[in-house]
Amino acid sequence: IPVDPFDLVIFGGTGDLARRKILPGLYRRYCAGQMPEEARIIGAARTEMDAKGYREMVAEAIEEFGGKDACDNLDAFLAKLDYVAIDARGETGWAELQDLMSGKDRIEVYYFSVAPGLFGDLAERLQQWGMAGEECRIVVEKPFGRDLESARALNATLATYFKEQQIYRIDHYLGKETVQNLMAVRFGNMLFEPLWNRQYVDHIQITVAETVGVGGRGEYYDKSGAMRDMVQNHLMQLLCLIAMEPPARFDPDAVRDEKLKVIRAIDPVLPHHLVRGQYEAEEGNEEDAPSYRDAVGNPRSRTESFVALKAHISNWRWHGTPFYLRTGKRMVARSSEITVVFKDTPHSIFAEDAGRHRNVLSIRLQPNEGITLGVTIKEPGPGGMRLVDVPLDMTFAEALGPDGGDQVDAYERLIMDVIRGNQTLFMRDDEVEAAWAWTDPIIQGWEARHDVPKPYDSGSAGPTDATEMMRRDGREWRKVS
Ligand code: NAD
Repeated sequence: IPVDPFDLVIFGGTGDLARRKILPGLYRRYCAGQMPEEARIIGAARTEMDAKGYREMVAEAIEEFGGKDACDNLDAFLAKLDYVAIDARGETGWAELQDLMSGKDRIEVYYFSVAPGLFGDLAERLQQWGMAGEECRIVVEKPFGRDLESARALNATLATYFKEQQIYRIDHYLGKETVQNLMAVRFGNMLFEPLWNRQYVDHIQITVAETVGVGGRGEYYDKSGAMRDMVQNHLMQLLCLIAMEPPARFDPDAVRDEKLKVIRAIDPVLPHHLVRGQYEAEEGNEEDAPSYRDAVGNPRSRTESFVALKAHISNWRWHGTPFYLRTGKRMVARSSEITVVFKDTPHSIFAEDAGRHRNVLSIRLQPNEGITLGVTIKEPGPGGMRLVDVPLDMTFAEALGPDGGDQVDAYERLIMDVIRGNQTLFMRDDEVEAAWAWTDPIIQGWEARHDVPKPYDSGSAGPTDATEMMRRDGREWRKVS
């Protein structure tokens, strides 16, 4: 279904994110017939170039980062693009942008795909130039602050110019098909929700493992670390969706109210329930895969590239059920997965050597998005009653046809949600602040103790301390694969 006519201004329209994700994604939506003919996309960035140069740049980006084969209509898409060279902190370009945006009755979206330090400048300039109307929407990228204080300040700045209903804080994890399917599975089936609590669930694991190192982001990353870069936002959002109470309706504030209650119910994390790690160089490949400290050019860095932790949610549903979270760079495989491990059956009627398995529901975000439920059945054949664990598999690509139904990249889905005015999958101001309020004491504790992250091998599952933390509880991490 096409969205209504819109003007989308991408501040930072020449940047890495715009070229890799936003623009190829918009082209795919255009090819899918979701973009009305009147839609316009205006790149606005510091680089001096004209609309022709911008169209060439976008064509190259689509070629390089995917989407080119989405359809055969690249020229018609490029004709929708315009460009303004603009300075967020100066006067250059604003009159031109104002001119482009004036006199049109359509949805206006301003995407702030620039460093967060510029969010306030952009908001202020938009207002000065009469473009911050009550109906326009702004999209802001992560990182949203680096602690509670800075997040509050950023929220307050944006609130000076825009109402909360106009602000879309993007977390692309929420745009993933499986993440939304998690809600469909939980709240669209009778099967799971009655079991979704401390009585039947032994524990829950959330793993987001990357194989890449810090790459070219070393300078930024070293001031941030895995806790700020991944746990405070992405893992926390996944935890909320897994743990929240059923909202009364699938509408933005009903969902976000429930997520907020979860964040507020998470206990402070005890130091011995926390493991930090820092990756070592890949053996024999030190040049291409240097150690974390070499990659960021800081031989004394104490920033973590890996975190594992055990969290408790103090409410009736989850009291006593641990949530184990883990994320890291340069790990053995690129894999994001949420796993719900159910308890043992109360009593086994089968012989001891028949085997016994727990039901495990695994929700894979990448690769191969899909949901699998491990079910115990009898091993086929004449060997007597022996039990095996088999997966009831719902890999979307298989279940929904060769292209997995309509597998849409998270960014393009979220941008279309902005244009439709649907904030359900975007973080609200109070959610972001509550997540920082939980994260801050953890980071402050590390700083106060001068905590040094544990080294771990590149291509491993992280420091052995993380395995140990699980083993102490008589459990183990799911294999990262
Ligand atoms: P980038 O450095 O590649 O691009 C920055 C863009 O901002 C460029 O288009 C540049 O011209 C523009 N810009 C810089 N100063 C400006 C000014 N004074 N006035 C107007 N425009 C100015 O950055 P990026 O990687 O595209 O990241 C953009 C934002 O998205 C950042 O907040 C980043 O944290 C976030 N983000 C990026 C990624 C990613 O994969 N690149 C992922 C998640 C979030």
